[in-house]
Amino acid sequence: MASILLDGNKIAHQIRMEVAAEIETMRAAGIRPGLAVILVGHNSASEIYVRGKVKSCEELGIYSEKLTPPDTVSTEQLLALVEDLNRRDEIDGILVQLPLPSQVDSKEVLLAVDPAKDVDGFHPVNVGFLSTQRPGLVPCTPAGVIEILERSEIPIAGQEAVVVGRSDIVGKPVAMLLLNNNATVTVCHSKTHDLQAVCRRANILVAAIGRPGMIRREYVTPGATVIDVGMNKVTDEAEFQRLFAGNRKREETFRAKGSTLVGDVHPEVAEVAGAITPVPGGVGPLTIAMLMANTVKAARLRRANRMREMSRT
Ligand code: NDP
Repeated sequence: MASILLDGNKIAHQIRMEVAAEIETMRAAGIRPGLAVILVGHNSASEIYVRGKVKSCEELGIYSEKLTPPDTVSTEQLLALVEDLNRRDEIDGILVQLPLPSQVDSKEVLLAVDPAKDVDGFHPVNVGFLSTQRPGLVPCTPAGVIEILERSEIPIAGQEAVVVGRSDIVGKPVAMLLLNNNATVTVCHSKTHDLQAVCRRANILVAAIGRPGMIRREYVTPGATVIDVGMNKVTDEAEFQRLFAGNRKREETFRAKGSTLVGDVHPEVAEVAGAITPVPGGVGPLTIAMLMANTVKAARLRRANRMREMSRT
């Protein structure tokens, strides 16, 4: 049985269209949402991510600003930068691109971001809002997972959901969102006993592990929905063969680029799952789309009073 492919690009496009419409309404009220991204040093993966975020802002008409302190920056200097962005009214969202260099206290820097401008949703205030089901800013990738499920009309309420991974960035917030949507949720991690048996209980299985192709066919109950958050670069020939032997299209890319992107779910799972997100083209595109949505949401929440006043005059 071939599974339904959940097209992240298509869903991300829908969300971007909705965000664009809201930006247009704000423009009519004289408001332009603004996002500031702090990119420390020269981490090539981070540079690629930030380029994508800035480009997306430009396409949608969001004001964006990139701040690039050197990798020798101190915690104090970063805190001063964040404080300045907290104060500036035209900045609605502040994103500190991780990872930060080892001399920087990352937790302290993230804690300094005004929760109302915390478009990554990592501040403890927003984590608390999420766990108590209050309006706030929700982490982008986990919010994207829920968008995929909802917009693909996959029921969540009452379903048995298993999340593999418990990071603060992905696993925990995904689990909390599924719980808030009335799924029965199990969270697994590296100390979970008999992971395979636990995963097989799932109608909805979310993999956020960081291990290429770890979730194999025998982990998945036939017909389950599988959401693969993993993004792993495979460069090793043996690893490539374990994952993609016989896949000519992948082979061409691998030979041409020397690498290929793979999720945490083995491609063979597509033969048993009811629906599955591909990698690339599944959860990935949702992350930037939800960042744009969060920036506009932050602008709406922060500036709501002003918009109300303007609509009265
Ligand atoms: P982390 O490394 O922070 O967390 C990984 C989690 O997986 C941990 O909770 C860990 O358990 C668990 N884990 C590791 N090995 C095993 C194992 N053998 N069995 C069971 N659980 C295991 O990663 P992230 O949450 O940040 O990211 C996860 C994946 O998602 C990565 O591939 C990352 O690249 C991708 N990602 C994709 C995004 C996107 O836009 N699509 C955005 C963010 C991340 P323990 O806690 O016990 O160590």
